Order: sequence, then C-alpha cells, then structure tokens
Amino acid sequence: MMPGGIVYESTLPWDPSRPATTIITCVDGRWYNHVQEFARQHLNAGSRTDFVAVPGGIEPLTLFDLVPKDFNFFRRRIEALVEAHGTSRIVAIAHQDCAWYKSRNIGSFTLDLRARQIRDLRQSAARLREMFRGVTVETYFARFSADEPKRVVFELV
Ligand SMILES: [Zn+2]
Repeated sequence: MMPGGIVYESTLPWDPSRPATTIITCVDGRWYNHVQEFARQHLNAGSRTDFVAVPGGIEPLTLFDLVPKDFNFFRRRIEALVEAHGTSRIVAIAHQDCAWYKSRNIGSFTLDLRARQIRDLRQSAARLREMFRGVTVETYFARFSADEPKRVVFELV
C-alpha cells in the first residue's frame, strides 16, 4: 500500500454542526462508553460532544502554582476550543480508580483520592467559570456502585 492511499472509508455520514458541550475527562478507556452514555442519556448532550481527555482529566487546571507549564498548556487549549467552537457547556468528569491520581505524589497525602478529586473538580470549575463567563460548567464523579458485578454511577459534585 502506498502512503496516502485510502485504507478505509467510514460508514458514518459527515455532520458539520458543532456540539455545544465539551466533556473534560481522563483518558482511561474503561470509562469511555459509560461517559458517552451519561452524556447522551443524562446530560442530553446529543450523540456527539467535543472531548478533551488527558490522564487525570481536569487536574492540570489545579496546577497554577505547582506546575504552571501544565496549567498553561491546558488553559490555552481550552480557551482556543471554546473560542473556535462556540462551546456553551463544559462538563468535567473525574473517575474512581484513576491511575494518574494514584501515582501522583505532589500535594497533600492526608486527603483520600476521592476527596482530592472532588476538591480538584470544584477548584477547576471555579477557574473555568472565571475564564468563561457565558459558559455553563458542571462537575461529576464517576464511581462503582456497591453491586456485583460492578456498575458505574455518576454523582453530581
Ligand atoms: Zn484516570
């Protein structure tokens, strides 16, 4: 096969309209389908959203003092996204059992991870609301239910 040769044609039609909602979440693919279903069924965000995923999700927005490079990288991209796409709603979702949070050693050791992730969601949401006056910002925490086999549930934070 020559480079540049078509190897696949999507069966899906192209829809040029832009989604109003941007979801910011972790890259962890185990949660991807649950997050997309949550967006369709609960958020009524339509069948498509813009999607910003980095390990740990919203966490760079809490790093203004600790790791300003990471903060600025994230901020610049969200600003460009909102401006170019006319985003009216940002939904930040953190999840239980997040490898990024488990592996990080910066900050307080005394908070449990869930409390820390919720704190980060709230802090980031405040930052986003300062940055984008006209944009609605919502935050959620996805976790396992108590059932076996596990189910995924979403809490408003
Ligand atoms: Zn994660």
